[in-house]
Amino acid sequence: MEKAVLITIGDEILSGNTIDTNSNFIASELKNIGIKVSQIITISDEIETIKNTLSAAFELGDLIITTGGLGPTRDDKTKKALAEFFNDEIALDEFTFNHLKGYMERRGRLEILERNKEQAFVPTKSVVFQNHYGTAPCMMMEQNGKLSFSLPGVPYEVKPLIKDQIVPYLKEKFKLNYIHSRIVSVVGIPESILADTIEKWELALPENISLSYLPVGTRVKLRLTASGENEAALKQQTENEVQKLLPLIKDNVIAVFEDKIENILAEMLTERKLTISTAESCTGGELAKMLTSVSGSSKYFLGGIVAYATEKKIRILNVSKETVHQFTVVSEQVAQEMAKGCQELFDTHIALSTTGVAGPGKGEDGKEVGTVYYTIRINDQEMTSKLYMPHLERLDFMNFVSQKVIQDLVGLLINS
Ligand code: ATP
Ligand code: MG
Repeated sequence: MEKAVLITIGDEILSGNTIDTNSNFIASELKNIGIKVSQIITISDEIETIKNTLSAAFELGDLIITTGGLGPTRDDKTKKALAEFFNDEIALDEFTFNHLKGYMERRGRLEILERNKEQAFVPTKSVVFQNHYGTAPCMMMEQNGKLSFSLPGVPYEVKPLIKDQIVPYLKEKFKLNYIHSRIVSVVGIPESILADTIEKWELALPENISLSYLPVGTRVKLRLTASGENEAALKQQTENEVQKLLPLIKDNVIAVFEDKIENILAEMLTERKLTISTAESCTGGELAKMLTSVSGSSKYFLGGIVAYATEKKIRILNVSKETVHQFTVVSEQVAQEMAKGCQELFDTHIALSTTGVAGPGKGEDGKEVGTVYYTIRINDQEMTSKLYMPHLERLDFMNFVSQKVIQDLVGLLINS
């Protein structure tokens, strides 16, 4: 199996200002074509460091992908480092220059072509993959059958370069096997017990199929990854294994194809022609964001309210003042009334509500940070639950709660 090393170049990542999402994306795309990433390295934007790291990376892998450090703003250290490392010169590439000119023309920025001209200078031995979403081209160099690709750092430039150009190129070049993945989502069973339950099945998996456990919130995703030469045969083989697995954990499986919980829900709502709305407080819209992140969600998601202030819960969602007074705003009763008000407001089959304290400061009535009540209302049935997650940071808390609400809803729908 081919091995890859990813190198992220940039001081802003080392300083903690930017999260390295590029490596995450690239590693996952490479995994899909059966290339294993053996190391991810982050380094500063300095010629010597870049050269030393390239040299070490060529020892470790068959394929090196660098991102960052190619912009027009500073001097092009990565490019200089590449040229020095490969004993090459940098020269103007006419084809790349014309591409750049076309790119500038389409954006009505021809006047700055001169300033960007140096971006069309590349090492003479490089093969250029043109960047359709930015000015820095991607350069491929070869050494003893091993390849290095140097890409700019901007994620929306990296993604199409990898997906549309580099992945297809690598598939062809390395004559890669097909990779087929299936995800089975499991709830209500701790990972260790799950592992015991399916141990025999796991040990009996064919050599070309591997299993991984991916916990997300309180759910575990089992991912089967199969590799082989024939795509149709792989799919069939994986399906056979899934069919053997299901009877072992049938009460805990919530999906056998879909991966994200919002997609699992989307399938169920669409199939059953159910509509949904949200009334959120402590999740701040995260729940609505998750629901609407699915393409086609307009078929079932009719709307959501972020009613943050207590007064707005009362005015917009018809929560009664007395309930707030008696039980406080972070309470089971308020969650219930929010869901009911939301269901009426949007006229949906299902309404979801959240009320809690995301922290880090205490809630207005002194409720503990990390406490949340949420209601799932389906027609005239409702279920209210409490979560206490004091250790989570604010954004993680919002996300965890939203995941859990949707997961519980999926569970309720499966059993109804
Ligand atoms: P530019 O033309 O913007 O200077 P560049 O190739 O020099 O492009 P960088 O300067 O390293 O790339 O990064 C440009 C922007 O892309 C950064 O501001 C950063 O926000 C983002 N970025 C860079 N590397 C990564 C990464 N590994 N993951 C996520 N974002 C990144
Ligand atoms: Mg830059």
